Amino acid sequence: MNPAAFLDRDGTLMEDSGYIGDPSRIRVLAGVPEALRALRAAGYERIVVTNQSGVARGYFDRPDVEAVHRSLSAALASDGAAVEAYYYCTHLDACACRKPLPGMVERAVAERGLDLARSVVFGDRAGDMALAAGLGLPGILVGKTGVYDGPEPLYRARDLLDGVRFFLQHVAERIDA
Ligand SMILES: [Mg+2]
Ligand SMILES: [Zn+2]
Repeated sequence: MNPAAFLDRDGTLMEDSGYIGDPSRIRVLAGVPEALRALRAAGYERIVVTNQSGVARGYFDRPDVEAVHRSLSAALASDGAAVEAYYYCTHLDACACRKPLPGMVERAVAERGLDLARSVVFGDRAGDMALAAGLGLPGILVGKTGVYDGPEPLYRARDLLDGVRFFLQHVAERIDA
């Protein structure tokens, strides 16, 4: 069983410019391809878990979300990087998958046979760190500046690459031991 890096999308892998339903608006953040390559080299599946309530709000539809994901994957591929899967929640409430609820992670673990106990969460918002805390996983907060009112992350990283380097150097091997 492989462990997973559960990765937030907007503000973690790509610029968060609000509700994104247009694939031409993809801007991969600096260092992200290198961070994703390092996770793979260390044996982690790279699983995107993203709240996309723009669907429930009527701003765009599921095919638009999937087009954005194809565009993100193409941008990553041009830098020699990839993710293994995308899970997204289209809801606003009354679901079991909107982060910080664990539904997307649980589904990924079941569908892909992941080793949850050795996994990790990367994200830029309190909801991502609450997801990690609820699952008992390390939470790495990336790129956050200013007021933060979520659970204390294991590490506050400048960006995903900084967070991945910290995790692989200081945490991953201890979990393996
Ligand atoms: Mg985010
Ligand atoms: Zn949901």
